Amino acid sequence: MSVFDVALIGCGPAGATLANLLGQYGLSVLVLEREPGIYPLPRAIHFDGEVMRVFETAGLRAQVEAISRPGLKGMHFNNAQGQTLMIRAGSAPIGPHGCANNHYFHQPELEAVLRQGLQRHPSVQLRTGHEVRAIEEGDEAVTLHVQAGAGDASYAVQARYVVGCDGARSLVRKHMGSTLIDLGLHQPWLVFDVLLKTEVPQLPEYTVQHCDPSRPMTYCNVTGNRRRWEIMLMPGDDPEQMVLPAHLWKLLERWVRPDQADIERAAIYTFHSVIAQGWRRGRLLLAGDSVHQTPPFLGQGMCAAIRDAANLAWKLDAVLHGQVDDALLDSYESERSPHVRAFIDLAVRLGNIIQTTDPEAARQRDERFRAGGPEIFHLPVPRLGPGIWCGQEPPAAQIFPQLALADDRLLDSALGRRFAVIGARDVLDGVSRQTQERWHDCGLVRLSGEHPELQRWLQQHGAQAVMLRPDRYILGLARCASDLERMSELLPRGGLQKPVIARGAATWRSVSL
Ligand SMILES: Cc1cc2nc3c(=O)[nH]c(=O)nc-3n(C[C@H](O)[C@H](O)[C@H](O)COP(=O)(O)OP(=O)(O)OC[C@H]3O[C@@H](n4cnc5c(N)ncnc54)[C@H](O)[C@@H]3O)c2cc1C
Repeated sequence: MSVFDVALIGCGPAGATLANLLGQYGLSVLVLEREPGIYPLPRAIHFDGEVMRVFETAGLRAQVEAISRPGLKGMHFNNAQGQTLMIRAGSAPIGPHGCANNHYFHQPELEAVLRQGLQRHPSVQLRTGHEVRAIEEGDEAVTLHVQAGAGDASYAVQARYVVGCDGARSLVRKHMGSTLIDLGLHQPWLVFDVLLKTEVPQLPEYTVQHCDPSRPMTYCNVTGNRRRWEIMLMPGDDPEQMVLPAHLWKLLERWVRPDQADIERAAIYTFHSVIAQGWRRGRLLLAGDSVHQTPPFLGQGMCAAIRDAANLAWKLDAVLHGQVDDALLDSYESERSPHVRAFIDLAVRLGNIIQTTDPEAARQRDERFRAGGPEIFHLPVPRLGPGIWCGQEPPAAQIFPQLALADDRLLDSALGRRFAVIGARDVLDGVSRQTQERWHDCGLVRLSGEHPELQRWLQQHGAQAVMLRPDRYILGLARCASDLERMSELLPRGGLQKPVIARGAATWRSVSL
């Protein structure tokens, strides 16, 4: 039996993105997807600028831009009478990630782009209609038992690492025995998309939160002629009746009529807020909804899945190429878990505000909105949890901004999937020959030269240079060459090293073989 480097179970956004990133490293990857086609029901419609950068790193930015639109129009918070109480501004066309910070899209179209992207990588195989039924862990590899198609055909396949990208009901998570921590919000909502057949002027281009305590709703202009409604189920609602066209049209009668639009698909989802403890067990890992789920009030569930992929891809590459001990993979949970938790906690708070059904609480909320609203509607920029970075203060362990270079390339395209050091030439030249060799060995990119925006950024943070990881998170800031020497200890190299994860900082020490 041939052994793949990595097997991914599930080809939703987490699995498809991770497969694209691992394919760039030339790793042999098998993606097993239970369904024959892409999941067609209405789900994600928003992703952020950081996620666009991951698509860019995967070489798919142009394809993703072709099926998405930047969210420049913002979000209105209306009361039960339809009066606008507060407006959250849309994003600038170019934000800190070199693009708008909000993008709207239709999830099945994005998944199609990601799957097409896999065809560029000869070392990546996607098998659709193949369901993983059982998992056996061995010392050298994991064996997966797979059911192919509807018949009895089944087979076994092996991989050195297996990532469960298998969604909320994850088989891999259950096999690993990882526990889900309840973060407090679980609420059923009716979600449906309509396709407009004609111009409907009363439908705004921006998103609207209808903060009506008798029935909270969200309206969103998705892309093209697709519009989305998310409507909270109230006590006494019959979920089976709710999804029937006659009922849907009744809910929409204020905005759009059946002669103006077709209902595409409707589904009832219970929005959950949970996070798992135990993202890795030996050769098994979890990513995406299998390991965390958030209510969609910030449009961040899939974004978190994509960030998982970006965090994990370079670590799996370093481990599978023998550059580091596989203890590096433990930093995946320690870094990502608090990061995603910041988004989930905020989405829960926002959800509780939007979902208010008590008229008096709604009246007080509306007053706060009229006065400018709580300051919780901006996406957080959390730091990674303890892992492979150093420095006590932000921006260490935060995502580095995207810069436009003098030759018009964006920084990410110039750096590729490698580590990088950027800063004043004399500081970069000041490191020892040993460190220079180490930089060379791990394929680190050196960038120096005049760049006003970079100089401003470094000055603002009192630094002369910055070291970046392949996922563009800041490994550390340097005031002098010896800071660079110190943080270069964290870089992988040819021999095996052992990562030691400590609170707020980490060092990798060589282990003798
Ligand atoms: C109404 C709604 C609105 C949302 N809006 C947003 C939004 O605006 N922005 C955002 O970022 N997120 C949003 N989300 C969340 C987003 O849709 C999910 O977070 C995202 O789909 C998770 O991706 P995933 O790859 O982890 O899981 P999934 O998309 O669930 O994919 C898992 C895949 O694994 C496959 N699978 C499962 N078990 C097996 C097995 N045993 N063998 C083989 N294959 C298997 C499944 O068939 C599936 O294809 C929304 C979700 C909902 C429901």
